[in-house]
Amino acid sequence: SRYTKDDIFRMVEEEDVEFIRLQFTDIFGTLKNIAITSSQLEKALDNKCMFDGSSVEGFVRIEESDMYLYPDYDTFEIFPWRPQQGKVARLICDVYTPDGKPFEGDPRWILKKTIKEANEMGYRFDVGPECEFFLFHTDDNGLPTTLSHEKAGYFDLGPNDLGENIRRDMVLTLEDMGFEIEASHHEVAPAQHEIDFKYDEALKTADNIQTFKMTVKTIAKRHGLYATFMPKPKFGISGSGMHINMSLATEEGKNIFADENGKIGLSDDAYHFIAGIMKHARGMSAITNPLVNSYKRLVPGYEAPVYIAWSAKNRSPLIRIPASRGNGTRVELRNPDPTANPYLVLALCLAAGLDGIKNKIEVPESVDCNIYEMTPGERRAAGIENMPADLKEAVDCLVTDEFLCSVLGEHITTKYVEAKMKEWENYTTRVSQWEIDEYLYKY
Ligand code: GLN
Ligand code: MG
Ligand code: MG
Ligand code: MG
Repeated sequence: SRYTKDDIFRMVEEEDVEFIRLQFTDIFGTLKNIAITSSQLEKALDNKCMFDGSSVEGFVRIEESDMYLYPDYDTFEIFPWRPQQGKVARLICDVYTPDGKPFEGDPRWILKKTIKEANEMGYRFDVGPECEFFLFHTDDNGLPTTLSHEKAGYFDLGPNDLGENIRRDMVLTLEDMGFEIEASHHEVAPAQHEIDFKYDEALKTADNIQTFKMTVKTIAKRHGLYATFMPKPKFGISGSGMHINMSLATEEGKNIFADENGKIGLSDDAYHFIAGIMKHARGMSAITNPLVNSYKRLVPGYEAPVYIAWSAKNRSPLIRIPASRGNGTRVELRNPDPTANPYLVLALCLAAGLDGIKNKIEVPESVDCNIYEMTPGERRAAGIENMPADLKEAVDCLVTDEFLCSVLGEHITTKYVEAKMKEWENYTTRVSQWEIDEYLYKY
């Protein structure tokens, strides 16, 4: 590992760190913090920091509410945007019960457990995400709007696009925090951006996604804008996805998806991995696309997937095989969006892929034409299924996929499904402006 306890004491002392945030993620993917002063550091590093789990949604009932945070020393990081005196640092933690057992409702634990299974098979799971987001204005009260500077005429005069400058600041800040940024660019829609950081082992990547989102929001705010990862903030323009690029490597670092002698440079295990993901894709979508709003992104016309298929040539299917081969061979899953809980997404992707490998699931033919242009009859003939159309269908698919439920465990499955059904009820029983506009005058 990267740091010992002594290293952390030394860094806190040398860097004049005053506050330490103990971070963990709830089952819905929200990053939570408990702040301590450096005087409490010893206690925290000895796993003695406690919090009330009953106030975290989806965690525990009041009767069994004491939870402990076990910091992962290797995640120690100083926030570069805080004051240079009395700095603020963070440690990402695992959540434990009072009797010293990992808490089964801790998504980081679910991912760790699944990774362990891959390690036992001799594999390391590498993941690189592509997070997209919008930068919007806030109103006079500081509340986020869906207005963008790129449409507001008064910014057009400047020699530089405001968004580009902010993105540059985000990239530099992320680099300060140890990220290796591979690319950053403007996305298709006005005010939409993407920043890609280097792939890493899955647990590190899931931690990185949480840190990334927090950093992007923090830097946007510093510049007076609001960064949102909401999947489809505006009708009629692209939504924001979080493509997940995956590969498995042996202990010696050989990518097992690559095979020079394979027809398109892919190994049999790569095909089985793809097949496993395709088999479970519908059930997984309740996790990869967790919001009512997520399904408004998964519609034809915006480079977001609607159909369960794979291709090495075309971007319309759920799974694409990017061109790079050899050790860069990877499988890109295109439906996840950045509001998903990254720990649970990666746990399910890995488990589903391994299910494909273990059971030698056969992959269907690739679909290399534009699936959106096929007729429903052609799609049926080619055996191409749809992704769930809404959150309700996705949750139904999750509860009927026993394999996925067992990966998530009883606690998370129950709490998650309960909360998502409530969310759906809440949404679907309301009368929307669209309905009023469409029906009130006609009938
Ligand atoms: N924004 C698209 C999506 O919703 C992806 C566009 C792209 O990266 N090519 O997934
Ligand atoms: Mg990209
Ligand atoms: Mg993109
Ligand atoms: Mg991509």
